[in-house]
Amino acid sequence: MQTIPRHLPQNKNVALVAHDHCKQTLVEWCIKNRTLLAQHKLYGTGTTGNLIEQKSGLQVNSLLSGPMGGDQQLGAMIAEGRIELLIFFWDPMNAVPHDPDVKALLRISTVWNIPVAMNPATADFLISSPHFNQAIAIDIPDYADYLAQRLK
Ligand code: PGA
Repeated sequence: MQTIPRHLPQNKNVALVAHDHCKQTLVEWCIKNRTLLAQHKLYGTGTTGNLIEQKSGLQVNSLLSGPMGGDQQLGAMIAEGRIELLIFFWDPMNAVPHDPDVKALLRISTVWNIPVAMNPATADFLISSPHFNQAIAIDIPDYADYLAQRLK
């Protein structure tokens, strides 16, 4: 499939998700990076988002809890171009009941080529990038062009 540029704005929509054993790590990461994160619009799955809001004072738009559909809500937002960056500390040591949703969220993030951090080291790299606070273009699939070709 061909690609087209998508312009990510300076102030981004950032999604925050952590599995239960990783929530404390993400909360601490958010507190550490509070000033930078406050410049963006934050979204989170239900429990993660509420916890970050309580502990850090950052404003987070909390969706449904992950196992109740929150991961799928975020996936839909990514596909619709409404999320520009995902921080997702998933648990490599424990199974979760909504594993298909987790896989789907990671897959759709790759389809739409958004920056994703799945552990604190990568999250540190992302947030220290100049692109975190600047507009930047990424390549995304040119689905309209693909459809037009298929219909010929
Ligand atoms: P939660 O969901 O923030 O509601 O715990 C996270 C997840 O498991 O996707």
